[in-house]
Amino acid sequence: MILTDEQTSIRDSARRFSRERLLPDYQKREADDCLNRDIVREMGALGFLGSDISDEFGGAGCSSLVSGLVIEEIAYGDFCLSNFPTQASLLGAILSRSATKDVAHQWIPGIASGDVIPAICLTEPSAGSDAAQLSLRARKDGSDYILSGEKTSITFGAFADVFVVFARTDPQAGAKGISAFAVDGRARGISTSAFDDAGCRCAGRASVFFDDVRVPAECLLGDENQGFTQVMKGFDYSRALIALMCLGSAQASLDEAWRYTLERQTFGVPIATHQGVTFPLAEADAMMTAIRELSYSALTLRDQGLPHTAEAAMVKLLGPKTAFDVIHQCLLTFGHYGWSKDSPHQQRMRDVMGSEIGDGTAGIMKLIISRQRIRAITAGA
Ligand SMILES: Cc1cc2nc3c(=O)[nH]c(=O)nc-3n(C[C@H](O)[C@H](O)[C@H](O)COP(=O)(O)OP(=O)(O)OC[C@H]3O[C@@H](n4cnc5c(N)ncnc54)[C@H](O)[C@@H]3O)c2cc1C
Repeated sequence: MILTDEQTSIRDSARRFSRERLLPDYQKREADDCLNRDIVREMGALGFLGSDISDEFGGAGCSSLVSGLVIEEIAYGDFCLSNFPTQASLLGAILSRSATKDVAHQWIPGIASGDVIPAICLTEPSAGSDAAQLSLRARKDGSDYILSGEKTSITFGAFADVFVVFARTDPQAGAKGISAFAVDGRARGISTSAFDDAGCRCAGRASVFFDDVRVPAECLLGDENQGFTQVMKGFDYSRALIALMCLGSAQASLDEAWRYTLERQTFGVPIATHQGVTFPLAEADAMMTAIRELSYSALTLRDQGLPHTAEAAMVKLLGPKTAFDVIHQCLLTFGHYGWSKDSPHQQRMRDVMGSEIGDGTAGIMKLIISRQRIRAITAGA
């Protein structure tokens, strides 16, 4: 895709920040094993959190495509930190579309500045892929709702300031009985328990428990029983962004691997001379370029208000798995040096692997693509 001068300039400033400020301490941040909120605020101050959030809410008012470009660059320096702009774009979009003006103004400016960390609570212990089966209950009590139940596997769950929670408001109605709420992370009755994850350790993935949490009616997002429709729209966006996160991280390993092929010698020549070394990297470049272009295309369709559900599912299907395979290949290119924990490739592999599950697994992406195809055929398209 040919970018405009403005898009290139924003991408390049995110690129400089990521490579100069984030990349050098990528491994140290994992070793420290805790979130540095100052760096999140720094991204906010530079306009890199939810670049698409409108200026009415303190955002940069860019397109979805520009958000994707920024997120891809941030992931180059630190995959785990790129979760912050992705969540900011996803939650910013849901809140600006569905919250009351007051509730939107309460949370979105802080999300854009990095002062507020948002989390999305959909998954439950017995409802993941089949999220319409969720059972966390929201019952009416006067003009308030009372939330009770458990959410699990929530990115930023351990420290989020606001939770967008999907809850059952009609016990009988399946997907049509689900509503969404913006819940203050400090509300009485909320507790959390963090996972000890294989990757993305600063993302604080956690179970979140709601023990009779009182939520004012104004915190309902959109209409009652419409929550499920809202979240599915959001996932079309976040899936394209997640694909770009994975590509950004893999690109860092790929750039490093290409450079290494010129430095390392075997049998008296640089390993770049051996096609057995360069062809896998050339294949990686080709696959990544194709998925990147489709990701940009999905975001451009979104910017134009056109359907992009299938495209988003395709890149979510291909992006995380390809990134994992590419990083693995890069690790092998470095021989025994790649296997050491001193090398960043093993961390990148662990970091991107979680994205093969989060926001829907490969199996679910294939299901979505198939449904879209069949729907188009039966509609005579
Ligand atoms: C890193 C990470 C971050 C996450 N962040 C969040 C978050 O912020 N908020 C949130 O709400 N959730 C989050 N999740 C949860 C995630 O969305 C779920 O884990 C995911 O949707 C799968 O649900 P499950 O784990 O219950 O697996 P299950 O639904 O139990 O599926 C188990 C296996 O069966 C397969 N499967 C199930 N049904 C089908 C089918 N019909 N066809 C083919 N295969 C099928 C799945 O692909 C999977 O391999 C996150 C998960 C991870 C790993």
